[in-house]
Amino acid sequence: MPDHGIAAEDIAEADLATRHGTFRTVAFRDPEDGNEHLALVLGETRMREDVLVRVHSECVTGDIFHALRCECGDQLDRALDAIVREGRGVLVYLRGHEGRGIGLVAKVRTHVLQDEQGLDTVDSATALGLPVDRRDFSPAARVLKYLGVRSVRLMSNNLDKIRALEMNGITVSGRVPLLIQANDHNIRYLTAKRDRLGHDLPHLDEPRLDAADDRCGTVGG
Ligand SMILES: [Zn+2]
Repeated sequence: MPDHGIAAEDIAEADLATRHGTFRTVAFRDPEDGNEHLALVLGETRMREDVLVRVHSECVTGDIFHALRCECGDQLDRALDAIVREGRGVLVYLRGHEGRGIGLVAKVRTHVLQDEQGLDTVDSATALGLPVDRRDFSPAARVLKYLGVRSVRLMSNNLDKIRALEMNGITVSGRVPLLIQANDHNIRYLTAKRDRLGHDLPHLDEPRLDAADDRCGTVGG
């Protein structure tokens, strides 16, 4: 078994043209969680330092249907665009991470509690007897090792995600904020992520920007 822990028969690679650009897709079946995950890779990553990386947790409602109650879909698009602008990078799309790992049915149950009882994203999970975050980021670490990345600049507002990757042997040389404009549907969710989950979301304190102002979408620097 190679150092990264993924068997050759559990990986397949091909090119994939998307609206953002053409990436190399690396599909892999993780030896620990058994899920099939996907990495989108642009440019050479082997032995490279400071590779721009997004580790994105699956969110069917946000990523596919562009739901406004979270910012996942916008973060996914912005991260891919940033990788294309940079000309090099990796987006790791982790399956089984729905609702911070509680699953889709449970996530929608938390939406009921949020809508009907005003609970936030944390209390609505704990009210159902569920953990606030049970995501495992080790599959992302394994595929980054498979890709030969030496160190990453992580696009994230979540300091816990950096710690999780570092605990799994990935060197995080920097963090690139991925700030999405708040709207009336996601402002409570984003505020709870800042106040209760420790995400770094300084833009929530600023006056709402005009939708045409893309300042929040700027990454890097
Ligand atoms: Zn989401």
